Amino acid sequence: MHSARLSLSAKLRAPRPRADRNPVTTSILLVEDDRPIADNVILALARENLDCRHVALAAEGLALLRAGDFDLAILDVGLPDGNGFDLCRTLHGFSDIPVIFLTARSDEIDRVVGLEIGADDYVLKPFSPRELAARVKTILRRAGGKSGNGGIRPAAAQPVTPAFIDVDAECARIACRGHLLDLSRAEYLMLKTLAARPEKVFSRAELMDAAGLAEASLERSVDTHIKSLRAKLAECAPEIDAIRTHRGLGYSLARTAA
Ligand code: CA
Repeated sequence: MHSARLSLSAKLRAPRPRADRNPVTTSILLVEDDRPIADNVILALARENLDCRHVALAAEGLALLRAGDFDLAILDVGLPDGNGFDLCRTLHGFSDIPVIFLTARSDEIDRVVGLEIGADDYVLKPFSPRELAARVKTILRRAGGKSGNGGIRPAAAQPVTPAFIDVDAECARIACRGHLLDLSRAEYLMLKTLAARPEKVFSRAELMDAAGLAEASLERSVDTHIKSLRAKLAECAPEIDAIRTHRGLGYSLARTAA
């Protein structure tokens, strides 16, 4: 894959119009100081009809993100004027758009998937740009095309988190009826995922993905975490059947207490 030589960013910035596509443009910000990597990513995203804006500096990225015109951000961890983690933390202070990290070091992964960073996904360099583009599409699908305002928090975000649940993503904690839940990392990430799309049925694989569980983990481990989450929710809201089992499909979180 030597498409790095194509120097594509300017030409591919505008997505090709396609009659069979949703006319709303999905826009992605890439903050990456390695030009060949950036060109490959831009090319792979363009193939998926995804518009990508590229900058090499954290400060430039932040300025663009503040303007709020993006649906997703891809952040390199090591940047000339800072790091992707700090950029992500600042971003999450004013926006909910999903973030994917590009990281060169496997020992950074724990931080990436950890609560403190709040990433939606990460890829380890060297990576396949096509694989990255596929993950971008998955995350955008999961986000349900909610933005259109670049993820800047709207007055009433859709879909609405269930009334009995209060997710504080910045502080990585979740309360049920005002009681802070004592959650493991995997439990937090699963419940946060479920709460973001009440009534949506998540497969075990999706929940494993959301919780950053290794692929080697058994899907059964999702059941264990769900069982523990149910017990914790039941302490705060015993009359609610909060997490529902969909046999053979997965789990969903109730939208209301009814
Ligand atoms: Ca870098």
